[in-house]
Parts: sequence; structure tokens; C-alpha cells
Amino acid sequence: MEIVTEVLVIGSGIGGLYTAAQISKYAEVTLVTKKEKSESSTNYAQGGIASVLDSRDSFDNHINDTLIAGAGLCHKDIVEMIVKEGPAHIKELINLGARFTLSDSSNLDLVREGGHSFPRIVHAKDLTGKEVERTLIEYISAQKNVAVLENHLAIDLLTEHNLTNLKDSPSENLHCWGAYVLDINGERVIKIKAKATVIATGGMGQVYLHTTNPGIATGDGVAMAYRAGARLSNLEFIQFHPTSLYNSGAHSIREQAFLISEAVRGFGGILRNQTGERFMTKYDSRLELAPRDIVARAIDSELKISGEDFVYLDITHKSSSEIKDHFPNIYERCLKEGIDATTAFIPVVPAAHYICGGIIVDSFSRTSINGLYATGEVSMTGVHGANRLASNSLLEALVFASRAAQGISEQIKENSTVLPDIPDWDETNVISPDEKIMISHGERELKQLMSDYVGIVRSNLRLSRAARRIKTLNLEVEEIYKKTKVFAALLELRNLVTSAYLIVKCATLRKESRGLHYSLDYPELNKAGKIKDTIIQNKYQKS
Ligand SMILES: Cc1cc2nc3c(=O)[nH]c(=O)nc-3n(C[C@H](O)[C@H](O)[C@H](O)COP(=O)(O)OP(=O)(O)OC[C@H]3O[C@@H](n4cnc5c(N)ncnc54)[C@H](O)[C@@H]3O)c2cc1C
Repeated sequence: MEIVTEVLVIGSGIGGLYTAAQISKYAEVTLVTKKEKSESSTNYAQGGIASVLDSRDSFDNHINDTLIAGAGLCHKDIVEMIVKEGPAHIKELINLGARFTLSDSSNLDLVREGGHSFPRIVHAKDLTGKEVERTLIEYISAQKNVAVLENHLAIDLLTEHNLTNLKDSPSENLHCWGAYVLDINGERVIKIKAKATVIATGGMGQVYLHTTNPGIATGDGVAMAYRAGARLSNLEFIQFHPTSLYNSGAHSIREQAFLISEAVRGFGGILRNQTGERFMTKYDSRLELAPRDIVARAIDSELKISGEDFVYLDITHKSSSEIKDHFPNIYERCLKEGIDATTAFIPVVPAAHYICGGIIVDSFSRTSINGLYATGEVSMTGVHGANRLASNSLLEALVFASRAAQGISEQIKENSTVLPDIPDWDETNVISPDEKIMISHGERELKQLMSDYVGIVRSNLRLSRAARRIKTLNLEVEEIYKKTKVFAALLELRNLVTSAYLIVKCATLRKESRGLHYSLDYPELNKAGKIKDTIIQNKYQKS
């Protein structure tokens, strides 16, 4: 089956929905999303969106805060751009119907988060992402020229590689004309041809054992773009949240870890190892209130020394009524896991939260492949550098989604894109999957090795061990992929393995510790020479 559309958008988080909303003003959009439309990291974002909306605040403040967090790797011109263009998009969201929390009858309630020098976080209580998703889904649903296909999983991009044989495939000046997409319920692969394609598939937290990301975050967009030959960057910079409830994500292979918010440490929570020792005294004079990456590294070090799976967060010295009053949600969730936080320590582990790197895009979200755009967490815009400032990701997604729409508008006006004939998905000689056990086993193995060797603290030895195991997993998965009728879990495992490979590759290229990347072999910043983004591109082209 073939669908021809003007613009194909892949993903229905803030990146995909806001791009589609903007494009719908001038062109026809087909949006595919691999589950139901609201299932996305966006839907779980709690804190909010950073933006300068108070006259006592300034663009310079927000720019400086972002540059400090980014540890020397932010692209300053791009930071300036998103900070300055941000407020207009908050207003647009409000015009579209978003109900953000107000401090009085007319002013937004702006709060402060770690790393921000001024209260500038726009929020809808602690359910900001849900409100943004609701608003954008409602808007999109009312647009006649936007077709949304749920349970449709993009497999691979349509490029020159689909036209020519492997040896003749060019590696530069490539074009994208859409994607092969698995209709999950219909169990068939359709070809969607488009003049412009936008990847908005979010992050890859599911490559790790513990992650705050939902099950959809399997790195599909980065993996697809890599296979197609796009340029990628800075995938070594993974932000880990120091405290998620241990085992809260372990009931099934793709569950999300439950966050134990920073506020619990702010409230007086004490981190203890399994012998009961308050270990932060060994790591930082600010103890439990040291910055996120330092606390996460300290926990990781304790776990590596002891071989245990978790440390404890202790708030039992606080009164029961205070705990229940301040943290009703956390208290209830712990109880569900059999932990009464008023009398027992809470077992916690760091969890993968956000990836700063991704598909390289320019200021109009254009990737290195003609006709291919990327917005949201999947992209590397230059905003975050080596570490993301809290609440800057939703802001980045808004600004770059709007700019993608401008870029695509120009491309469509030029009217020079001709869609070539592209063969249908070939399912001859494939067999139906007989045993799916290898898929879940492979995913568990990958998550374990990534957490053990490519987590918060890396070393040359750990990275090379991980690389060897990933290579073997990759061979096994590719073998099944080539022989079997495709299904979602197989395609996602394939993308997870590719994402893991890319993280290890970037981490191996960085011979220093900077921002979110810490290596025992290079514990210092590299102060010699120009500070560089790590850049990778697949020269082996898949047809
Ligand atoms: C728990 C949590 C709290 C957070 N809090 C904040 C916060 O307060 N402020 C902030 O700025 N950021 C926050 N973040 C980060 C922020 O939410 C994300 O970076 C952002 O929402 C990503 O948006 P996105 O559109 O790029 O991806 P997502 O929102 O993850 O959407 C990706 C979409 O792509 C679809 N998809 C994926 N692969 C395919 C495929 N192959 N085919 C078809 N569809 C596909 C998915 O189903 C989904 O619809 C938080 C993240 C988490 C997990």
C-alpha cells in the first residue's frame, strides 16, 4: 500500500505535534505515531517550559544560565535564538488553549528550577507535559489537512539507497522522500511518500535498565537517520536523574522508573548505602544537595564498590504527617511497592532521563539529508551542549518545530521536489517469527550492559567491553531482521542496539570528562585545542 502526502511527520510528542500544527497552516500533513497519540515523553514532563516572561528577568540571564549548564559546548547563536523566540511560542500555546498555572487572575505563575537564576518556568501544576499534549492533540484533531495514523511505526527512511544497489549509493547530497511504516494492527508495511519528512521520535532512555522515559523511547529516529546516512552528534551526553524508585520500572521490560523528586533531598532526605552509611560526606561538601550529576556519580560509585543494585533515601527522621503532606504522590507510590517511607528507607537508583545529542540540524531543523528535518529530543540543535538546563527541552522543541515549518514551507514553495518510484516493502522470503524470546532476552542484555558499562561513569575498558557485546547483539538482531516478517518489538530492539552502538561510539571519541560525560581515564576537561562536538556519520549505506 502507498500513501502520498506533502509532509510526513513521525511522532506525536511536542516536537511532532507542534510541527504538524504549524505546517497545517499551509500544507497537508500525515502524522504517524507508533502507539496511541498521547504516549510520549512529553506527556510525562512535570516541571515545565523555561522562558523569559517577567520584565525583571532578561534574555541575557537565560542565555548565560544555559551556557553555564552546557559546559562550553552550547552553540551560542542557537541558544540566543531559542531564548529570544521562546516567549512567542508560550503565547501561541496559550492561544491554542493551553491552561498554564496562574499566580493571579492574569499573570503566569513562573517558578525557579536548578541552574536558573530567575523564576521563569511556565507550568501547569506538575503536569505540564500532559497539558501541552492535550492542547496540541485537540488542535491537530480539528485540522482537516492533518491525518493522524496511530499504531504506525516508521521503520526506515526512503532515500537514494532504495533506488540503487548498495555499491552505487551516494553518501552525500542524499534526499529523503518519506518512510516505510509498519501498520501494527494491520500487520503490513506501507510506503508513505512525502516531499518533506520530519523525525520527531524523542529520546532513547530505554537503552538503559532504569529510565524515566516511557517505553516508546527506543531511539528509532536516531537509528533510522544513522542508517540513512545523516550526520549525528554528541550522543555521549546522557542526563541521569539521581533518584528513581528502585524496581519501579522492573515489572515489565519497558516500564518507566518512578521519579523521587529532588524536593525530597531538599526536604532533608539522606542518602545511605546498604550498610546504612551516609556516603555523600565522602563526595561533596553540599552533601545530598550537590548538583544532579555529582549526586548521580556518587551513587554510581557506591553501587560499583558494593556490587549492590540500589542505595537508600532516608526520610524516616521527618514526621509522618510532614512526609504525607509534602509528598502524597511519592508516599502513595512507595506504599504500592510495599515501602512505608515514614518508617522505612526508600531504595533508589539513578535513571536515564534525557539525551542532549542527536541528529544534527541547522537553525531551520534541516538535517544533512535534503527533505529530512528533525525536531524535539531526537535532534542536536546546539542548545544543550554537554548538559541540559532544566526545562529547556520543551522550549527547544517549540522553537525548532516552528522553524522546521518555515524551512519546509520554503522547500515546498520551490516546488523542485520530484518523488521517484520506490519499490514496495519486500516481504518475499521472510518467515513469520516463531520464537520472540530472543527479542526480550536481547533487550534485557543490552539494558544491563549499557547500565553497567556506559552509564554515569565510563572508562576505556568499560566502553570496549560494551562495544564487543553490542557488536554480537547487532549481528544476532540483523540476522533475525533479514529473515523474519517485521514486528514492533524486533524493530525497536534493532533501533535500541543501534542507539547503544552510537552512544558508545561518541563516548569513545570524547577523550575528556565534560558535562554529562565522565571517564575514569580522562577525568579532566580537555583544555588544549578547540572544544568540539563529536560527529558521526554512517558511510556504509543500507539499501
Ligand atoms: C518524566 C520526564 C519529565 C520531564 N520533565 C521535563 C520538564 O519539566 N521540562 C522539559 O523541558 N523537559 C522535560 N522532560 C524532557 C521532555 O519531556 C522531552 O525531551 C520532550 O517531551 C521530548 O519531546 P519529543 O516530541 O521530542 O518526543 P516525545 O514526547 O517522546 O514523542 C516522541 C513520539 O514519537 C513516537 N515515535 C517514536 N518512534 C517512532 C516510530 N518509529 N514511528 C512512529 N512514531 C514513533 C512516540 O510514540 C511519541 O509519540 C522530561 C522528560 C521525562 C521523561
